[in-house]
Amino acid sequence: MLRKSLFAGAAGLALLVAPLTATAATAAPAVSSAPATVDATTVYYNASGAPTFRSAIAAGVANWNRSVSNVKLQESSSGASLTYTEGNDPQGSYAQTDGHGNGTIFIDYTQANQYDITRITAHETGHVLGLPDHYTGPCSELMSGGGPGPSCTNANPNAAEVSRVNSLWANGLRAQSNGVMERIYETVPVAAH
Ligand SMILES: [Zn+2]
Repeated sequence: MLRKSLFAGAAGLALLVAPLTATAATAAPAVSSAPATVDATTVYYNASGAPTFRSAIAAGVANWNRSVSNVKLQESSSGASLTYTEGNDPQGSYAQTDGHGNGTIFIDYTQANQYDITRITAHETGHVLGLPDHYTGPCSELMSGGGPGPSCTNANPNAAEVSRVNSLWANGLRAQSNGVMERIYETVPVAAH
C-alpha cells in the first residue's frame, strides 16, 4: 500500500515537471560523459567548438542516427573522438578523418551562408563514418555535397549510403583504423554548378 501511493505520487510529479524538463533540454542540452570503455559502435562527438552550428550539427547527427543501425553518434563533453569546429577557410569546409569515426569537422562560414547548413554537417559526418565524396550524384544523395548546387537542401543519406555505412560498421570498423587522418575539403568543382 505504501509502495503504491509512493509510485502514484512520483508519476504525478513526473507529469508536472515533464514540460519544464523538455524546455530546459532545448535551451541547454544535457551533455553526458563517454563511458570509460568506449563502445565500438558509438561515435562520441563534441560540438562545443562550433557553437554557431549547434542545432544544425544536432539535426545532421539525428538524420544519421535515424537511418543507420550499426553505428550511433552521441554527444559527449569528454572522450569524444569526433570534434566539430567552425571558422573561415578559403578552401571551404572539411573533414579531417580516418573514416573510422575519428577526426575533426570544420564548417566554413562562407559555405554555411551559401549551402544548407544541416546538409553540410550531415555530409561531413558521412566522411567520418567512412563515405567518400560523390559530387556528380543527385541531391537525394548526401555525399554529392555541393555538386547539385546551393538549392539542394536534402540532409539525409539515401538508401545506398545507409546500406554502405551499416556494412562498414557491421564488424569493428573502428579497430581497423590505420590512424591516418586525411583532410577532405569541400572544394566544389566549378562545372558542377
Ligand atoms: Zn565531402
